[in-house]
Amino acid sequence: FQTEQIARLSALVRTLLEMSNLQAVPRDDCIELAPLADEIVTDLTPLAQKKQITLHQECEDIHIIGSDALIYRMLFNLVENAIKYNQPGGSVQITISRSNGKAILRVADTGPGIPADCRDSIFQPFFRVDKSRSREMGGVGLGLALVREIAVLHGGGVTVESSSENGTTFAVTLPLAQPC
Ligand code: ATP
Ligand code: MG
Repeated sequence: FQTEQIARLSALVRTLLEMSNLQAVPRDDCIELAPLADEIVTDLTPLAQKKQITLHQECEDIHIIGSDALIYRMLFNLVENAIKYNQPGGSVQITISRSNGKAILRVADTGPGIPADCRDSIFQPFFRVDKSRSREMGGVGLGLALVREIAVLHGGGVTVESSSENGTTFAVTLPLAQPC
């Protein structure tokens, strides 16, 4: 096996483990979304610097009930993509707000966009847009499938809210909780 193949397979195994039996993961943490976003920004800053992307966030003081580990992974995967599929000098904006009694988590990037006919398929396991199939991009195409699993498991959903040659915005909607 080549090193890239090993890296790919271990990434696959890790994600499959995460996807297995997600229903069994307890979802009773009270999660403050702003500190969670801070943590993700801190954890992804090295990757962002490597790719010359700046990270920004604007987070209202919002709580949800769920699995802290899974919600972390969900937002992490979206922000990781927003960095990975961006262009040098680009930016990523995380926005967490309240709307119609729901929490909305948006991740907006300044990348090349997602072709209209791929905007549903990208949530399927192993689907990757042609350009990102190259080795240098790494990844196996499971990140967004996991994002959707986690959102649905928490009573919410995820969509490509907008996408053009100037960038893409993903939006996750989740039920709000009272401060706890
Ligand atoms: P993995 O997340 O498993 O490491 P991956 O990033 O290729 O691999 P997904 O996160 O599921 O897999 O994304 C699927 C595909 O959707 C990507 O390969 C890429 O082509 C496209 N994509 C995802 N996010 C973006 C984005 N923000 N901008 C442009 N294309 C994107
Ligand atoms: Mg990904």
